[in-house]
Amino acid sequence: MTTIDGTTQLLGIIGDPVAHSLSPVMHNAALQSLGQNYVYLPFPVLSQHLPSALAGLAAIGVQGLNVTIPHKQAVIPHLIAIDSAAKAIGAVNTLYRRDPSGGWIGSNTDWQGFLAPLLTLPIPWDQQTATILGAGGAARAVIQACWHLGVGQVQVVGRSPEGLLALQQQWPALLIRTWGELEACLPHTHLLVNTTPIGMLGKSPNDSPLSLPQLGMLPGGSIVYDLIYTPRPTLLLDQAMRVGLMAIDGLEMLVQQGSIALSSWLGSTVPVEVMRQVVLERLLTP
Ligand code: NAP
Repeated sequence: MTTIDGTTQLLGIIGDPVAHSLSPVMHNAALQSLGQNYVYLPFPVLSQHLPSALAGLAAIGVQGLNVTIPHKQAVIPHLIAIDSAAKAIGAVNTLYRRDPSGGWIGSNTDWQGFLAPLLTLPIPWDQQTATILGAGGAARAVIQACWHLGVGQVQVVGRSPEGLLALQQQWPALLIRTWGELEACLPHTHLLVNTTPIGMLGKSPNDSPLSLPQLGMLPGGSIVYDLIYTPRPTLLLDQAMRVGLMAIDGLEMLVQQGSIALSSWLGSTVPVEVMRQVVLERLLTP
């Protein structure tokens, strides 16, 4: 255990709520393994306190922050700069400062975290079609990642026409679909990504955005990627594996987005395996 002393540096996560977050356990395990004199703390921040919390955390010298729901978009007007990916996505999940007296700079590591497991697969992405379920903040990171990967066709299935049109304005090549059009999309989908909370523990763990027969409409060899990591597997991924499809859950995305953020704060490589193991252990603990 790192001894906290007068030179200990601070990192943390702001959100509301933050008590459920796995980021503190993941980052503190990595910091201890590196022998770095840092601690990573959860900071519950109500929306109305966001500006004063950001100023206060900068004033006391916090080195870096993760940002979670509901602040990923609301934080942007309070930053001195954001990187190009965060700008395209329209959401920020990581904050850092270039100089100790300066303001916060925003970046987004969710899209790189999402990409990490896909980059290991030998797939001709330019010949593939990705279908993304849901049109919220995580969907924006997934869309950005799919373009970066060079996916041939990217389509989003959502329930709000205004939300879908806003996404198409941001990415004109994006195809937008209603849920009623989903079944027609499935036979041409090679990568299906669930970015809705359907199937998440605490919300609807017995639900899936697709029925078993609908999963059977995907071509053989398709990948089903669920951003949710509790329960493991989700019903969607359990059924995808039952019909012989490749299943990827959100755990690696969580670990990778965190490791990229920590590496940028420390300016060094970080022990990704330590981060992965501690998250897995925590998820297996009842
Ligand atoms: P969000 O901004 O609230 O977006 C959720 C989207 O799902 C919205 O488009 C919403 O539609 C849609 N949706 C919700 N319930 C639905 C339903 N019953 N039927 C159809 N559509 C529904 O949330 P988010 O930040 O994008 O997060 C989404 C999920 O991704 C969460 O489960 C989160 O835990 C997960 N996530 C995982 C990671 C990771 O590292 N693994 C990172 C980020 C997020 P409306 O807009 O119409 O409400």
